[in-house]
Amino acid sequence: MVMKTGDGFQAKELPQDLKATLPQVYVDDMLVTLKYFIDEEKSHLWIKDHDVCARCQHKPCLYFCPVGVYTLGQDGKIQVAYQSCVECGSCRVACPYHNIGWILPRGGFGVAYKFG
Ligand code: SF4
Ligand code: SF4
Repeated sequence: MVMKTGDGFQAKELPQDLKATLPQVYVDDMLVTLKYFIDEEKSHLWIKDHDVCARCQHKPCLYFCPVGVYTLGQDGKIQVAYQSCVECGSCRVACPYHNIGWILPRGGFGVAYKFG
């Protein structure tokens, strides 16, 4: 089965037998266990060239980020809410035009994971 998002971007749904082998993960429940040390002065994520985004037909960044860092602003430009980033690294590889600048947050800033 193919799922369609608002702008026509298509993603395939996993087959039922594969789905059954995967653990149930509730991202929202996991996010509340994280601690964020937000760098208010410097973003570790940025759009390199908004003109490239304007030509990017499907804008997959609006879908692949697990915490919705990328949104479309009223001005039609991609907005980056870097404060919510969980540093999964997906946007380093998933932007088809390599148009997202990504560095680790400065020392002492960023997300802290709690294990166990
Ligand atoms: S996927 Fe990349 S090029 Fe496309 S809109 Fe998002 S940041 Fe811009
Ligand atoms: S690193 Fe992951 S969480 Fe952070 S902006 Fe990129 S896709 Fe979103």
